[in-house]
Amino acid sequence: MITSTMMDVPLQVRRLLEHGATIHRGSRVVTATGTGTHETTFADIARGAARLAGALASLGVQPGDRVATFMWNNHRHVEAYFAVPSMGAVLHPLNIRLFPEQIAFIANHAADRVVIVDNSLLPGFAKLLPSLKSVRHVIVAGAADRGVLEGTGVGVHDYESLLAAQPVTYDWPDVDERAAAAMCYTSGTTGHPKGVVYSHRSIYLHALAEAMPDAFDLSARDLMLTVVPQFHVLAWGLPYAAFAAGTSLAMPDRFLTPEPLAAFVTAARPNKGAGVPTVWVGLLQHVEAHPDADISSLTELVVGGSAMSETLMRGLDARGITGLHAWGMTEMSPLGTFSRPSLDDAEEDVDGHRLAQGRFAAPVEARLLGPDGEVLGWDGESVGELEVRGPWITASYYRENDEEHFDDGWLRTGDVGTITSDGYLRLTDRARDVIKSGGEWISSVELEGHLAAHPAVAEAAVVGVPDEKWGERPLATVVIKEGEQADAAELREFLATKVAKWQLPERWAVVPEIPKTSVGKFDKKIIRAAYAQDDLNVTTLG
Ligand code: AMP
Repeated sequence: MITSTMMDVPLQVRRLLEHGATIHRGSRVVTATGTGTHETTFADIARGAARLAGALASLGVQPGDRVATFMWNNHRHVEAYFAVPSMGAVLHPLNIRLFPEQIAFIANHAADRVVIVDNSLLPGFAKLLPSLKSVRHVIVAGAADRGVLEGTGVGVHDYESLLAAQPVTYDWPDVDERAAAAMCYTSGTTGHPKGVVYSHRSIYLHALAEAMPDAFDLSARDLMLTVVPQFHVLAWGLPYAAFAAGTSLAMPDRFLTPEPLAAFVTAARPNKGAGVPTVWVGLLQHVEAHPDADISSLTELVVGGSAMSETLMRGLDARGITGLHAWGMTEMSPLGTFSRPSLDDAEEDVDGHRLAQGRFAAPVEARLLGPDGEVLGWDGESVGELEVRGPWITASYYRENDEEHFDDGWLRTGDVGTITSDGYLRLTDRARDVIKSGGEWISSVELEGHLAAHPAVAEAAVVGVPDEKWGERPLATVVIKEGEQADAAELREFLATKVAKWQLPERWAVVPEIPKTSVGKFDKKIIRAAYAQDDLNVTTLG
């Protein structure tokens, strides 16, 4: 082998920080305050990060120690995103929406040593603290009555005073690019949540790829409304990509319901955004009902975490906003695919491609496996389970011997779908959500998409329920829009114009809302359990 002449420079989070803080020093992090906005620059973030690293070191944080956050999306959280990995420690954003027992399990499993907590989350956190076994220090961000943490035996500190005592520079260590930089736990739909540990290298490579034009297309001219929580796959890696590209960030903090979110958009005027479909559906419904709400600054919204329905895509189109579909997982940092039209697209293919999950980012390799483990072709028709591999895809779970999710160097995604010959992934379902009726598969996602297109339907979730004759049949649960009316018979008739007769659900329930997981996806486990316990008012038709 001839050795290359290239320098061997480690890919480190610290380099993203330094790049953003110098080249893009004026780029901003705008945080919602409820009454207005708080603005800070990337240069300020870097000074804050250096101070935070000094403060953590003064509390005894060593390389490799886990520093958790219990925070909303805001400027201090961005400081922690850079300070903790850059000093050689491991950032661990905790999902504040999980049940306390789950949060305790996760924090104990990760052995978090320090937790940085937003003041607005302190009451809930105080109840949790006694069950967090490894935590030695709690740093409270924002004015708060820290007395609620007294008597717990841990050190309690105020974020600003702790940082004020530190210099605005930090002698960042030269960490190994393969060392752990951050970790997140999967939402854990079955069994315990599982930890995924990202390296400096994986975060750096992912940040560059995410900024590319056929992905998030990030530049120093953009302001990205980052609604996806910082505890959900590191806000899809956006803060790191933003520092690479100079993209300003609009952070909604705890103001996530449609009304304050719309007000934040009006005040901050972001041109792009990223979040799960539910958030955008809520925002659109709000703007429809309140024509004075001004979201005209938005031109592109990235929809990921769950499938973007055609109704959502069209609703965004009607407002001059392009809905872009992205697919990924906690295990994948998360970027897997992104859907943007290409020059080769025939006109009639454009919308179909936009509704597909998209094409794979360059370093992500994919294959589809059939029921007998055979590798299927990319013909746009063969349906199989998707497996992936690549430099920002996890090869194992943290401190867990799990073979079931890995297959000979590939990650088994648990997602089921097709891939076209030009690489468009189209998911038809989760392996566990697909409905197996008399030996045929019914896609719950497809039925949900059609139902959501009915003018009276606000949301619809379809799950498989046991059926004596067919093994499993679909149960449709729907939320009717305020002021509208539709019954099961009408909805079934409507659906009959869209799908084959044998796919039509016999069981229907109109519900006040669809239960959601901690990261805003339909919680189908809860719907199945409600059905099993006879808690749903089910109408049977057909
Ligand atoms: P999480 O690790 O919580 O981000 O969940 C990852 C899972 O969310 C994936 O395996 C998919 O099942 C689902 N998901 C993510 N993005 C999409 C998308 N664009 N369309 C459909 N499902 C998605």
